[in-house]
Amino acid sequence: MASSLASRPRFKLCHLPTPLEPLKRLSAHLGGPQIWVKRDDATGLAFGGNKARKLEFILGDALAKGADLLLTAAGVQSNHARQTAAAAARAGIGCELVLARMVPFASSDYETSGNVMLDKLLGATVEIVERGTDLNAAMNERADRAKRAGRAPYIVPFGGSAPPGTFGYVDAALEILNQQNDAGITFDHVFQATGSGGTQAGLVCGFSTAGSSAPRLHGISVLAKGADYRDKVLRLVAETAAELGMKPPSDDATIVNYEHVGDHYGVPTEAMKDALALAARHEGLILDPVYTGKALAGMIAAIRKGQIAKNETVLFMHTGGTPALFPYREALSGAL
Ligand SMILES: *Cc1c(COP(=O)(O)O)cnc(C)c1O
Repeated sequence: MASSLASRPRFKLCHLPTPLEPLKRLSAHLGGPQIWVKRDDATGLAFGGNKARKLEFILGDALAKGADLLLTAAGVQSNHARQTAAAAARAGIGCELVLARMVPFASSDYETSGNVMLDKLLGATVEIVERGTDLNAAMNERADRAKRAGRAPYIVPFGGSAPPGTFGYVDAALEILNQQNDAGITFDHVFQATGSGGTQAGLVCGFSTAGSSAPRLHGISVLAKGADYRDKVLRLVAETAAELGMKPPSDDATIVNYEHVGDHYGVPTEAMKDALALAARHEGLILDPVYTGKALAGMIAAIRKGQIAKNETVLFMHTGGTPALFPYREALSGAL
């Protein structure tokens, strides 16, 4: 399967492999298990994060098809939008972003700082639209307009979550399996934030190559609750496996936990704020309020409930998102 990945068009954007580091002080604070972090916040593209790995395959595909413009839609403080803008800049092609007001609050920081500021610095065209706007229709309309103007647009799906974007995390899983061998450890559990689902789908496929020694992957939902949402991830797993000609992983390998979303996507929870402070103050590790803070809160809750044994080894996926800290200045002020 590694060879099936190697034959896919890919445009190098990331610093790989990203570091795998032990979190000794956090492990001691929680009284075990042994906790490690995968530093995918350090993928290197315009402040890093998980979308860079997906974009290597997406951009490879886009350029192979002759595209000269990337179009994508997301939330206002989207890390995916920022990294898409950076990828387009690296390839020397255009980027148009349609950003929806997805969170139920507004502040001037939220619409001007953090990722949206970086999108503009990276040269993308940014349009902010209301919540509830049909984003697929908005993207298709822009693609048609671009074609009429003689451009060759390429629509990047939400979060880059479809093959070939998911291949980036199949590759990441293989990278983690190699790194754990080199470090002489075996991960029993892996925790990650799940949004559009492509990261989890890729990891499920990649880890399935380890057979019975594959870690249990826990997707902590930050977006939606309910079985429909897991079905979406399962569909992405099936599509990714089919595209790569792999044996489809068992459905049991796709675990989605809905307990840490809180009231809404992008709305802080107390447990997220505690997790942010814990990582910063015990490890000097900066997480983000939308994804990784809630994912770490989910991991801490599992440890505190005894769902993870003290002698087990756990990996936390740091998927990035730190530029979104700054627009959350007011929302986080009580926690700092
Ligand atoms: C997008 C994102 C995720 C979730 O990844 P999906 O593939 O969309 O599920 C996690 N963390 C950060 C920081 C992200 O930007």
